[in-house]
Amino acid sequence: MSQVSDEFTLYDLKVEVVAGEGEMVCDHQVGDYFEVSGENLSLPPGQTFPIYPLAALLPLLPAKQRETHRNDWMTTDALVACPDPLCGARFRITRTGRTTFRHAEVTRVPLPGAPEEGTGGSGDVAARAVDPAAEPADEPAEPTDDA
Ligand SMILES: [Zn+2]
Repeated sequence: MSQVSDEFTLYDLKVEVVAGEGEMVCDHQVGDYFEVSGENLSLPPGQTFPIYPLAALLPLLPAKQRETHRNDWMTTDALVACPDPLCGARFRITRTGRTTFRHAEVTRVPLPGAPEEGTGGSGDVAARAVDPAAEPADEPAEPTDDA
C-alpha cells in the first residue's frame, strides 16, 4: 500500500531585540528574544515580551516560517522596528532551522484527494471548509422584496 506523505516543513524562527538608534522605551532589552516553531511561541524562562511589539511582529511570522522567493523582500528583510515611534528597538527575525509537521496533525481539513477517514460522513463539512466559495455568506441575506 503506497501512502502519500502529508508532511510539510516550516522554518523555526528566533525574534531577537537588537539595538537601533535611540534608547528603548518599552520593557525589552537587547538580547531578549522569543522563538517560534509551528504554531507555538516560547520565551526563555523568566523573560517577558511586551504585547505591543509582539502585535506588530505577529503578522510577519507565518510568512517568515514559509519558503519565500529569493527575490521577495520577505526573504531578505529581517529587521522590524518597534511600533512605539519613540522606542529605538529593532527586532531581528532569523530562520534558525526547519521542523517537519504532518498535515493530519495540525488540521481536520482533509487534503484534496485524500481518502476520507472517520465514521463515513459525506465530507460536506470538509468540502465547504476547503472551498471558501462554498461558504455561506456571513452577512444576512439582502432583502429582495421590501416594498
Ligand atoms: Zn519598543
